[in-house]
Amino acid sequence: MTIVLNEHDWAKERIDTRTLGKKPFETLSRVSKYYLDYGYGKKEARKATEQFLLQCEPTASIPKWADTLELALTRALKYDAIQIDGIGITAPEMARIDALEGKQIRRLAFTLLCLAKYWNLVNPNCDSWVNNKDSEIMRMANINTSIKRQSLMYYTLNELGMVQFSRRVDNTNVKVCFIEDGDTIMTITDFRNLGYQYLKYHGEPYFECANCGLVIKQNTSAGRKLKYCPECAIEIQTQQKVNFVMRQRFKDRLQN
Ligand SMILES: [Zn+2]
Repeated sequence: MTIVLNEHDWAKERIDTRTLGKKPFETLSRVSKYYLDYGYGKKEARKATEQFLLQCEPTASIPKWADTLELALTRALKYDAIQIDGIGITAPEMARIDALEGKQIRRLAFTLLCLAKYWNLVNPNCDSWVNNKDSEIMRMANINTSIKRQSLMYYTLNELGMVQFSRRVDNTNVKVCFIEDGDTIMTITDFRNLGYQYLKYHGEPYFECANCGLVIKQNTSAGRKLKYCPECAIEIQTQQKVNFVMRQRFKDRLQN
């Protein structure tokens, strides 16, 4: 599952905007959970989730979706909803990250820190261990580089005592060792593009989409500042066109 800090708010937003998104199973599972937590029984939650699916995709075939709907409900019954308002980064933690040599390694350390803090909140026994997939970590950190360079960055962080590796052979588990109390100087509420959020915090030209909150690079060569991410820009432009056409039709009708 993609990390979402406040799963109820997230599900509510999807329900209100009738959005299935790119990962239908994740959406359906969170929507089922939302209904269950708001007092629906198993059957009612399943029915309401089915309704939601049809609102998003009016042509969807329920028999075809039956397995996914069932699995989504099973998952919703099994796990508690995650309800985290935000994850705070402290001044000493940021100082440790900022002192690293190299832009990519700073983004990697920052992302690992956010993940460790997230898992500590979700499961208090996890003791700052991060076991997300490497590809997932790199995507969140906005790092695109060879496996060799990735390993080198982990090696450096380990040499500096900032991370530890698991003794197990799989080597995908990393323990973050630089969590430190202090003044909170940054609060993370969205786990998409953590690398860019780090750069934005340090004054680089990144901005938060006014519609979906995704942090992306500001195109500084363009004359005016961007307000929306490309996906939302297209969506909003289409909506504006529709509104324009509707207004014209209305005007025409008034005149005739
Ligand atoms: Zn957006």
